[in-house]
Amino acid sequence: MKNEFSFKIDRFTGGPVETHAYLVTLPEGNLLVDAPEGAADYFRDVPIDLLILTHSHFDHVMDAAKIVREKKCGAAMHRTTEEHLADKMLNKRFGLPIEIEPVKATIYLEESKQQNILGALFEIFEVPGHCPGSICLYNEPATNLSSQSTDVANCGVASVLASSSINDTLSRCAPKAPGTSSTSATLKPGSKILFGGDVLFAGGVGRWDLPGGDGKLLIDGIRKKLLTLSPETRVLPGHGPETTIGIEAKTNGYVAL
Ligand SMILES: [Zn+2]
Ligand SMILES: [Zn+2]
Repeated sequence: MKNEFSFKIDRFTGGPVETHAYLVTLPEGNLLVDAPEGAADYFRDVPIDLLILTHSHFDHVMDAAKIVREKKCGAAMHRTTEEHLADKMLNKRFGLPIEIEPVKATIYLEESKQQNILGALFEIFEVPGHCPGSICLYNEPATNLSSQSTDVANCGVASVLASSSINDTLSRCAPKAPGTSSTSATLKPGSKILFGGDVLFAGGVGRWDLPGGDGKLLIDGIRKKLLTLSPETRVLPGHGPETTIGIEAKTNGYVAL
């Protein structure tokens, strides 16, 4: 399979903790990475062929079932993510009065050097520690296109990390008009891209104090699997601004070597 293309990436940011979803145009269809609240409405007129969930936290999956139903698209995730989504009490145990509609996987994603996703080859990394079943997706197209890049204001990673509970995070990151705040941006097309979920952020890493979290596992996984990618690899995280592996390897106090 050829991997010589550059894909278009649109970013939607929505939900109570300003979570990013990435719409990626691939050779055989449109991929949506994560499904924060508001994503189904935002992408109402856009065909989506596959939804990938990076992990099971509520802010990444709130619109997942709606999107799968309305778009009649497949859903790809780690087996653990599917199990979490089927657990109606999961978010109540986090202290959140939220019930997420379960989504069944049509494709299970696990550690893999070459996973064909809509005609593109991705490397899948399992990086638990923030959440069991967390995955990152890496793609290395051979060519680039130039385009404009826009960054949006967001809920800083530091505030996510510093919070002692999701409720704290919710209050710190609450949008001005709850439930209606969303932003979007068209990002530069693909060139060594890592969809990082909540594993690695600009200047931070995913919090590990929630149930199922493990800081050592997280840091070890990031160092072994992600920081070994080329420095120019762009990291598109689940929250906050885009960064690169090179910047994080040098300056990120949590994981810098
Ligand atoms: Zn998370
Ligand atoms: Zn998140």
